[in-house]
Amino acid sequence: MIKIIGAGLAGSEAAWYLANHGYKVKLYEMRPVKMTPAHQTSNFAELVCSNSLRSNDPHNAVGMLKNEMMAIGSLIMEAAFQKEVPAGSSLAVDRVGFSAYVTEKIKQHPNIEVIEGEVTDIDVDTYTIIATGPLTSDALSEKIKTLFDAKQLHFFDAVAPIIDGETINYDIAYLKSRYDKGEAAYINCPMTKEQYDAFYDALMSAERATLKDFEVNVFEGCMPVEIMASRGRETLLFGPLKPVGLEHNDNRPYAVVQLRQDDAAHTLFNIVGFQTNLKWGEQKRVIRMIPGLENAEIVRYGVMHQNTYLESPEILNGCYQSKTYPKLFVAGQISGVEGYIESAASGLSAAYHLNRVLKGLEIQPFPRDTMIGAMSYYVSTPNKSFNPINANLGILPALDKHKKIDRKRLYAERAKASLEQYLKE
Ligand code: FAD
Repeated sequence: MIKIIGAGLAGSEAAWYLANHGYKVKLYEMRPVKMTPAHQTSNFAELVCSNSLRSNDPHNAVGMLKNEMMAIGSLIMEAAFQKEVPAGSSLAVDRVGFSAYVTEKIKQHPNIEVIEGEVTDIDVDTYTIIATGPLTSDALSEKIKTLFDAKQLHFFDAVAPIIDGETINYDIAYLKSRYDKGEAAYINCPMTKEQYDAFYDALMSAERATLKDFEVNVFEGCMPVEIMASRGRETLLFGPLKPVGLEHNDNRPYAVVQLRQDDAAHTLFNIVGFQTNLKWGEQKRVIRMIPGLENAEIVRYGVMHQNTYLESPEILNGCYQSKTYPKLFVAGQISGVEGYIESAASGLSAAYHLNRVLKGLEIQPFPRDTMIGAMSYYVSTPNKSFNPINANLGILPALDKHKKIDRKRLYAERAKASLEQYLKE
């Protein structure tokens, strides 16, 4: 018997995969007995905010991830295509239909028994996947903390967007530290007054995600950029967009947006002071108005919401398996991935490896040059400032020499070939 705790994106995906491989699965879900502060229904795989599952482009990071999930066998992708609504090159779904579809499939599966109610304890001697998400109940969070001897679980995630360094336009952006103190560590995007005014107006009119009541108080301590900006047209010029000391070629820009290196590999950069609660599509629109970022690929959107997640690099291996308790796996947002599709993909990955463990086979993480493998590598590799991450090309191993224009296609082709080979073996 396998226990899966949480019938969200990751838990539903994992339950389906294992049940289809012949195992009896007990799927525990606390809703509707106990609701989370964000879920509205008792359906499985509920999308708590946007109904977008992002790009369908096979050369885009999340598009690649979706194709990989389909190759492994994904209920979430099946449901998404069944319940798709028009959204251009993105995949958006009818949210009610989508989670109803997943719920029905799971409830009708002869190998899955659904058990309603909050789980507060974990038996390390039973094969278990913990997939209780960013809103894991308090009692279980405490249990998990003790179990993994975790110094802390992270509770609030207020992060600025992160940009793929290869997509910054260095004809406009320049390297410099304020007043040239220390080495030139920041990438600076200068704005004229006209550009600032247009950016400011877009920022002010952009649509924001709804904060839950319990989140509002917390955010007073780490203000989103749009809230700071709403205090006055010039407020940002004395805050994160202050231009003093950032003169370039004898020019003093009217405003400067700065980006700071985010990863050891020097491929990812966060926008300084840009914690934001704007909807993801709006973030993209507003950020691309910043000179130098007009073609920026956002590899992780700014988010401000409750987010329980583990310091996974200390706790999990590249198969989402606990290093201390081999029968325990952790998947979904609590394992340190971010996003609906990423959460489902990690559930699929955990289930895939658990299936092999149960068959007495050796387990090997998915190849690093696939998106599903790059994500599990990120989650299980020591990192000074570990933050949940979206699928993005910046976490893939670099390509050998290539033309920039071919980059995405080459990544996608390499990943496809690699996954095919891995699954064959
Ligand atoms: P979930 O889908 O949350 O599933 C976890 C399940 O575990 C839930 O059903 C919960 O009821 C259950 N559970 C919790 N504790 C227990 C317990 N003790 N016993 C039994 N069951 C339990 N991602 C995006 O891609 N786009 C967005 O727009 C977006 N918006 C978000 C907004 C908010 C407010 C939050 C919190 C997150 C958002 N995310 C978004 C991030 C993330 O993608 C989703 O939270 C996603 O649902 C995570 O999937 P999961 O399977 O890890 O967790």
